[in-house]
Amino acid sequence: MIVEQVWTGNAYRNFNYLIACSDSGEAIAVDPLDHEKCLGLAKAKGWTITSVLNTHEHGDHTGGNKAVIAATGAILLAHANAKDTIPDIDRGLGAGDIIKVGKTVELECLDTPGHTMSHVCLLSRTDTPALFCGDTLFNAGAGNCHSGGHPGELYDTFTTQLAALPDHTLIYPGHDYITNNLEFTLDREPGNARAEALLADIGDQDPNAAMVSTLGLEKEINTFFRLHNPTVKARISEAFPGVGDDPDPKTVFLKLRELRNNW
Ligand SMILES: [Zn+2]
Ligand SMILES: [Zn+2]
Repeated sequence: MIVEQVWTGNAYRNFNYLIACSDSGEAIAVDPLDHEKCLGLAKAKGWTITSVLNTHEHGDHTGGNKAVIAATGAILLAHANAKDTIPDIDRGLGAGDIIKVGKTVELECLDTPGHTMSHVCLLSRTDTPALFCGDTLFNAGAGNCHSGGHPGELYDTFTTQLAALPDHTLIYPGHDYITNNLEFTLDREPGNARAEALLADIGDQDPNAAMVSTLGLEKEINTFFRLHNPTVKARISEAFPGVGDDPDPKTVFLKLRELRNNW
């Protein structure tokens, strides 16, 4: 499996992905908004894009579908429940479905509601697993729930599905928000040395060569995975006295999400 992260350089700071089979050169394009870059990269690599997958229905993820499909004849995959919001889906996906790309790539579909209610993440079946997580999980952050999502569902997705993946899972998010997110983590947990060091390290990194994090690193630097941390909890109690001085993890998550909305 070969993964190419495509930095769009747009105002929304989207990342698109090509995932290719090294044997056959077949590739899947994930959220190929910048269709010119994705098609150009596939051509340069000698790959054939045979499928397009949308993690969810938002325009900054589906906006390149038409052009890529017109150029390649690729089929379109997305959550089965997105059939009314994403036109012309060829294959509707549900939890546990396997997406094959060429001979060597197998991607498992995770049904991950929260950012929207028809959002999928892809988990590669490789020695080092890779998670393509759209707008569910970002480096050091979590997707918002303003446009068709539910924070309670996002909490369930984080705690029951994402947190359960192996720590060495590589994280490939749909946007580059790492700087803001690390600053939010540090606002919620001043003194998080790992987050401080990473923020200094990445500086204003070139998103064309962005750091790829792991789930284990996220658990250290992503406040949405640190619901049991005493500082995070104490700062939530301070901001929301109504939650008492020992808020449960779900309350912490929901309040973090609320605070991040205005960050
Ligand atoms: Zn979105
Ligand atoms: Zn997005």
